[in-house]
Amino acid sequence: MIRIEEAVALSRFTTIGTGGPARWLARPETIEELVEALGWAADRDTPVEAVGLGSNLLVADEGFDGLIVKLGGELAAVEIDGELLVAGGGAPNAVCLHRARAAGLGGLEFASAIPGTAGGGVRMNAGAYGSDWRSVLVDAVVAGPAGTRTLGLDELDLSYRHSGLVPGEIVARVRYRLTPKPSDAIKSDVAELLAQRKATQPTNKRTFGSVFKNPDEGPGAGALIERSGLKGHRIGGAVISERHANFIENAGGATSADAVALMAEARRRVHAGFGVTLEHEVRFLGPLALPAL
Ligand SMILES: Cc1cc2nc3c(=O)[nH]c(=O)nc-3n(C[C@H](O)[C@H](O)[C@H](O)COP(=O)(O)OP(=O)(O)OC[C@H]3O[C@@H](n4cnc5c(N)ncnc54)[C@H](O)[C@@H]3O)c2cc1C
Repeated sequence: MIRIEEAVALSRFTTIGTGGPARWLARPETIEELVEALGWAADRDTPVEAVGLGSNLLVADEGFDGLIVKLGGELAAVEIDGELLVAGGGAPNAVCLHRARAAGLGGLEFASAIPGTAGGGVRMNAGAYGSDWRSVLVDAVVAGPAGTRTLGLDELDLSYRHSGLVPGEIVARVRYRLTPKPSDAIKSDVAELLAQRKATQPTNKRTFGSVFKNPDEGPGAGALIERSGLKGHRIGGAVISERHANFIENAGGATSADAVALMAEARRRVHAGFGVTLEHEVRFLGPLALPAL
């Protein structure tokens, strides 16, 4: 039977390092254990969310009153099957990329600077440098309390930082279609992308990645926040990055409330100064919300 842990601190499961506890946590290692955990939650009418590497996640300081699922074992494993890479939903992007390179398969290089998992990538349709999950994904096995379904690209409804997945639908496995490419070329392309990233973003700080989505047109969210004079603005232990204004850093002792207060201020000033309503990209877990403008 799947073991359900109680009152587990979530701050250690997020890259920003803030937030309160999950009421329950399960660490399924097989699809059967995952479905069992989801059934356990459904029987109790309890909300369920997955946590990957917590790299786009802000957890309320009060915590999450539900079940958190953290995938491990075969649900985080990676295999090569011809030109397909088959990854558990909990497989880190870095491991997928490493296995692809070793097999001489290219296509995942864009994900080298995205510190998440396969499942988190589908949920967010994560992307960089003009590619996103849509460009490599074949399909995903998605679990719910009644079992699993395999969803193709159309059914996943991926667009800019959006998927059609709803809370409680957990990506258990994905298949990526890659293309043959010499591993040396993959290595040098990744090195170049990482160098570009290091020059423009705070890569050695505790952040949750981009705070806001870029507006459909006009300057990006970072430029708008920078022009609002907010670079370096600090509330409590949270600071708007001097390197890139669409990042919030935990400068030590930050709470999620500090980060939300900074987000609210950025949103307020950008709306007042430019008439643009920023939408947050980071996912909220637990009772967190931005004030109305
Ligand atoms: C330094 C830094 C740089 C970043 N750069 C980029 C970038 O260039 N491009 C980009 O798109 N993002 C970027 N991000 C954000 C983040 O890495 C991506 O959104 C990533 O895909 C999130 O994956 P995760 O596994 O960490 O998901 P989490 O942050 O753990 O979760 C994010 C959301 O996905 C859901 N989720 C997680 N796992 C599953 C699953 N198995 N099934 C269903 N839902 C799931 C969660 O419930 C939550 O709603 C960056 C983050 C950091 C810290």
